Amino acid sequence: MAKVVIIGAGGVGGVVTHKCAQLPEVFSEIVLASRTLSKCDAIAAQLSRPIKTAQVDADNVPELAAFLKAEQPFLVINVALPYQDLTIMDACLEAGVHYMDTANYEPLDTAKFEYKWQWAYQEKFEKAGLMALLGSGFDPGATNVFTAYLAKHYFDEIRTLDIIDVNGGDHGYPFATNFNPEINIREVSAECRHWEAGEFVTTPPMSKQQPFTCPEGVGTYDIYRMYHEELESLTKHYPTLERAQFFMSFSEKYLTHLRCLENVGMTSIEPIDFNGQQVVPIQFLRAVLPEPASLGPRTKGKTCIGCYVTGIKDGQPTTAYVYNIKDHQDCYAEVQSQAISYTTGVPAMIGAKMMIQGTWMKPGVWNMEQLDPDPFMADLNEYGLPWNVIERPDFEIQ
Ligand code: NDP
Repeated sequence: MAKVVIIGAGGVGGVVTHKCAQLPEVFSEIVLASRTLSKCDAIAAQLSRPIKTAQVDADNVPELAAFLKAEQPFLVINVALPYQDLTIMDACLEAGVHYMDTANYEPLDTAKFEYKWQWAYQEKFEKAGLMALLGSGFDPGATNVFTAYLAKHYFDEIRTLDIIDVNGGDHGYPFATNFNPEINIREVSAECRHWEAGEFVTTPPMSKQQPFTCPEGVGTYDIYRMYHEELESLTKHYPTLERAQFFMSFSEKYLTHLRCLENVGMTSIEPIDFNGQQVVPIQFLRAVLPEPASLGPRTKGKTCIGCYVTGIKDGQPTTAYVYNIKDHQDCYAEVQSQAISYTTGVPAMIGAKMMIQGTWMKPGVWNMEQLDPDPFMADLNEYGLPWNVIERPDFEIQ
């Protein structure tokens, strides 16, 4: 049993709080802290169990460290924004608290995410006897564990990895993003990088596309290759990988809106002067788009996220595909959220549970695939994200 502080009361924060509250035997005390107290209180009011809420600015290390010293949690679950990762890690070190997040650090003024900043904390966390678990969402998160699970049980050596993230859901808006709009748009408009023959190769955004038919009748969708952060850690930890790619589905409607917003400069992260005030176009855009947390009641359809791996087993080439399918409306019925926040929040709860129970507990900074996948996979089945493996599926990814 342990006390946790959850930082961030957005779409993902709501789901993590619901899921932790469902397990009082693990999460004995929950504090939900965020920049806007009323958002924490609105989530707390949805729960059948009392939790504490607090206002905190996670950009301010002394303020956050003082807050953590006063609360003395076992662990901080960081589901604020990637910009806050390093300040929250610093505050955790100062207060002697374990750390976990779902997205790697990204500087506010450069649309570039990399693990190097957080990996640089390895020695500090190790020396302090603290653990930092990085990227415990779905992708990254469950996808890293899926890869580790296939590598452990289905292959002697993995050679190619294709992560395929399909959102077959529709929220009915002409344009809205399923998680934080600023982070989402920075991610999808960035240059694509994929792993090929021992190095990352850069190609223009959205320049490779193919149709993908999801299992269990979810449907056929156009998937587009893009860079995603788990490629960096997985290619490091599985050096036998000859190729690694990440694909995400987008509707034509979404892409047309995005192209238009890009063309008129609304996705820029460079501040402009507007009536004497400095305005960052993408931050203004975020303010006029629907909050991801508000999409829950309107989103219908299913997500299908999985990993397709090829490699060698007993001297023979083989393939396997592991995936989860989640229905948006089922998520809403359970925790008042759509499936994107749900599929992120559940692995976040499970990662925290693994650390609290000591199943995954070792000082230092770790990516998900560096830890034993089996208990995590068992918990995905138990807590709302059941998965399935298809051996030698009848499709190929180009
Ligand atoms: P939201 O924008 O809905 O929520 C972010 C929350 O963090 C908001 O409540 C915001 O407060 C709060 N916050 C922002 N800055 C601060 C700060 N300085 N101090 C305290 N609180 C702050 O985002 P999501 O819930 O959609 O995403 C949360 C995280 O999950 C992001 O890092 C995202 O990248 C990650 N993610 C990971 C996925 C995965 O599969 N691994 C998938 C989807 C998301 P306020 O509302 O007041 O602005």
